Amino acid sequence: MNSTGTDAGLEAYEQSLLGVFGRPALVIDHGEGCHLVDVDGHRYLDLIGGIAVSALGHGHPALTDAIARQAASLLHASNLVTTPQQIELAQRLLRVAGAPEGSRVFLCNSGTEANEAAIKLARRTGRTGIVAAEGSFHGRSTGALALTHRPAYREPFAPLIPGVTHVPHGDVDALAAAVGPDTGAVILEAIQGEAGVIDPGGDYLVQARRITADAGALLVLDEVQTGVGRTGDWFAFQSAGIVPDAITVAKGLGGGVPVGGLVTMGEAVSGLLTVGQHGSTFGGNPLACAAAIAVLTTIEGDGLLQRASRLGDAVRARVAALGDDRLVEVRGRGLLLGLELSAPVAPDVVTAARAAGYLVNAPRPTTIRLAPPLVVDEGDLLGFVDRLPDLLDAVSCPHPTDPSGAAR
Ligand SMILES: *Cc1c(COP(=O)(O)O)cnc(C)c1O
Repeated sequence: MNSTGTDAGLEAYEQSLLGVFGRPALVIDHGEGCHLVDVDGHRYLDLIGGIAVSALGHGHPALTDAIARQAASLLHASNLVTTPQQIELAQRLLRVAGAPEGSRVFLCNSGTEANEAAIKLARRTGRTGIVAAEGSFHGRSTGALALTHRPAYREPFAPLIPGVTHVPHGDVDALAAAVGPDTGAVILEAIQGEAGVIDPGGDYLVQARRITADAGALLVLDEVQTGVGRTGDWFAFQSAGIVPDAITVAKGLGGGVPVGGLVTMGEAVSGLLTVGQHGSTFGGNPLACAAAIAVLTTIEGDGLLQRASRLGDAVRARVAALGDDRLVEVRGRGLLLGLELSAPVAPDVVTAARAAGYLVNAPRPTTIRLAPPLVVDEGDLLGFVDRLPDLLDAVSCPHPTDPSGAAR
């Protein structure tokens, strides 16, 4: 065994890192475009993009140049002062979000922190209730965790902040029934990523906007996974034609550099958090802002929104052309896709795919998630789709018409 290889690395990992992530699959040495190379020299096509983070892949010159230049100039200045990078990122975010007059940005370091800011924004309405959706994921801090639905994540840490109600995702009547005079905010993902790429479809967001407006509650959309071009729009809510009261962003925004934000829409909402009511040491630091500006500039300049839409459609078409009934459904939009399988073998498919040189993940036992860099090569991406029947064979995924599970 190579003493600097995967096995030795994972052994040392388990002796030094807290066990919350379990045993990792790989020890990655470096990236090359849309590929990752592990310490044993194996090369993988990165079709999960660090969980919807590496929007420009790995080592994209626009991003690495921006980071290198900013690192040499100024890494950190604190919020005792400001920098041109911070101001420009805020302006750019407001513009791509289509934010109305009076809108503002709070910059932080992660999706969780962005949602914490949203919770504090909701509290400033004077109402303590928050309605979230079943299946939701909003982060792991004790505030964001209260919004996150999965009991296994929440229960070991009870009691969490009070006042949070979960309603079935996509159910307009349930949402209307749960929102009342005590509701400060409704928080929703336009497409639930961790739940398995679930798009409630229809006019759910439009109805959520109507229900919250009628009740005087804020509508907060968690765009941490769906935002920054991943679904083919800058933000997933934009295709619904609504204006939420706030959105939270992170993941793809920095292309791998930690950065998050809360965008408050309009003057009234932006006035809820005032001097001294929130803050961050690292939030809005010039390094993270320079990275995010480079990501936004590249997405815009290289037409990556349209590209994400087109490639998402191409994956759908290729899956349909395979005619394999073990691929039951393709959900999602753009380059946030959930491939629904006929049986709960998705974790095995992830392992088989890895052995075949592809990194994907299984947010739930029947779903394979794809969230590749927006710059992924079309042939590489469709090449993975073409391998799916082999991978499903390798894990003995049953055809839905054959309950015995035997191959037809
Ligand atoms: C990943 C994610 C978060 C948490 O973001 P972190 O950067 O891990 O704190 C919150 N909401 C959604 C929808 C996410 O996908």
